[in-house]
Amino acid sequence: MTQMKIPVVRNILQANDRLADANRKVFDGAGIFAINLMSSPGAGKTSLLEKTIDALAGRIKMAVIEGDLQSDFDAERIQRKGVQAVQINTEGGCHLDGNMIQMALEALELRDVELLVIENVGNLVCPAEFNLGEHEKVMILSVTEGHDKPLKYPLMFQLCSALLINKIDLLPYTDCDIDVIRSSARQLNANQAIFEISCRTGDGLPEWLDWLEAKVRSSRGK
Ligand code: MG
Ligand code: ZN
Repeated sequence: MTQMKIPVVRNILQANDRLADANRKVFDGAGIFAINLMSSPGAGKTSLLEKTIDALAGRIKMAVIEGDLQSDFDAERIQRKGVQAVQINTEGGCHLDGNMIQMALEALELRDVELLVIENVGNLVCPAEFNLGEHEKVMILSVTEGHDKPLKYPLMFQLCSALLINKIDLLPYTDCDIDVIRSSARQLNANQAIFEISCRTGDGLPEWLDWLEAKVRSSRGK
């Protein structure tokens, strides 16, 4: 049974990669820098987005694609900030794929957009396997999830160029050891940028915003 499963999965991923390549061409043609934002449920993706939108307002024009199993609460949170947001409800599907992004792009006005953030479904496993056409993968790990996560979900950590360790204001109430997160993440991806942040207090957000802004600017310089 296991032997039969492997080629099927490979075909699905190859078909997805073709759609992701087409999305990438759309982003590049429109001068858009796209990131795929991933984490477990509740790690703070939408909160980070809200903070990022506030900080970049008037400097970088953003749009958001919100992936969720159900509901459009998160897209409403983003729209309240005056930013274009399209909701994808996967209806139980545990990750976004290239086809969903292709459809969402049709609903967005891409003109003038410089930064597109795709908030993936909360899940540390398969979102890492499905390329969406993004330029960078970014992940959030909150300290309440524990420091064992990099070694339990290595692919996610390997592929993400930035890791945001969120909720550092809660560190005193957990057994989480940030040095363990850092060293195991480094072991998986030596080039990963690591930020310790709190979306609640704002700690560490300036460093994240500098990184993001530099990425957007350098992609536009190409
Ligand atoms: Mg969310
Ligand atoms: Zn999935």
